[in-house]
Amino acid sequence: MPSTFELPTRFGTAGYGGCYAPETLMMPLMELEAALRAALADPTFEAELKTELRVFVGRPTPLTPAPRLAAALGFRQVLLKREDLSHTGAHKINNALAQALLARRMGKAEIIAETGAGQHGVATAAACARLGLKCTVYMGVTDMARQAPNVARMRLFGAEVVGVEAGQGTLKEAVNEALRAWAGRCDAAHYILGSALGPHPFPTLVRTFQTVIGEEARRQALDLTGNLPEAVIACAGGGSNGLGLLVPFLKDPLRRIAVEAGGHGEGLGEHAARVSGGRAGVLHGCKTLLLQDEEGRTAETASISAGLDYPALGPELAALASDHMVEVWRASDEEALLGAQHLCQLEGILPALESSHALAMLPRLAQEGIGTVLLGLSGRGDKDLATYQARLGI
Ligand SMILES: *Cc1c(COP(=O)(O)O)cnc(C)c1O
Repeated sequence: MPSTFELPTRFGTAGYGGCYAPETLMMPLMELEAALRAALADPTFEAELKTELRVFVGRPTPLTPAPRLAAALGFRQVLLKREDLSHTGAHKINNALAQALLARRMGKAEIIAETGAGQHGVATAAACARLGLKCTVYMGVTDMARQAPNVARMRLFGAEVVGVEAGQGTLKEAVNEALRAWAGRCDAAHYILGSALGPHPFPTLVRTFQTVIGEEARRQALDLTGNLPEAVIACAGGGSNGLGLLVPFLKDPLRRIAVEAGGHGEGLGEHAARVSGGRAGVLHGCKTLLLQDEEGRTAETASISAGLDYPALGPELAALASDHMVEVWRASDEEALLGAQHLCQLEGILPALESSHALAMLPRLAQEGIGTVLLGLSGRGDKDLATYQARLGI
């Protein structure tokens, strides 16, 4: 639980963030901010969330030393923060569950959500089943075909999955459709956004509920080793697991690194590296670093990992990057595959393709003289088995 109840609308010197939402969403967004403020100040909510995180999600997740990986790469110590061991297999459940509790508190019996790869949809569907809320998840039709097992999981949890035909049939279109649906149902429904994105208060709200990752990890590292690591590193799609891990370390004298998807090339459309390849722009309700063409049209993106394949970086992480509080690196598809293979063979842990982008940067960190590192393992790789099999020739 956060120690401050500050809910910033803008981030950093660039003033990223804001609330670029249609008129119809202004009232529900203001209502949400008020509800969040009240919930964060209410010890009953804090206690309820803490209990559910323990008994349903499995928190605290372990901090696992990875000695064979460390030795192979030349580190004194590598510590893994194991969000892969959370219920439903990734960090997404921290936010989905907290927002579902918030919705119930607001008297909303229905939940709307978007999903890309399906991880946020599965987490939301699970949280809704747990709390007895009706759940509708918007998902692009291309993603539904690519991520059929997650569609089945959501439906098993009782959620309705609505296919979105527009555009490329992926996450961007699913967010548009979910926001539209929410505007029409905002009296009865709460919209659970899956990353630290969107109009205020969503970026702050999602980040607030994900900082449990870094707060636990910081305490666990101190308990385990008596020291803080020299570097903390996580992958960044929208930025929720990255902020969740890195924000509690912002005041510490160490290197903070977020890793974006370098995809398969340097050209626009071949990657999802918003910091090195993007410019300030507005998408889905906030101003942030955005991949776009010369006319300002949102660019296509590419990545081997569905969870990092989004044209905008969350505004707070974009601001931390612009203000040099967080370094942002990029890992290619090939490097991520190699990172995953290392962890599998040396530690017996199968990482999500997203998390593998952070793993891929360990050799570079070692080269730069870092001796101890804490890495956010955002999710497990069972969902990516088919890709690993095909690309690693297993
Ligand atoms: C969704 C997802 C991500 C990327 O989202 P963030 O909001 O940047 O954390 C990373 N890892 C896993 C396992 C995911 O499911």
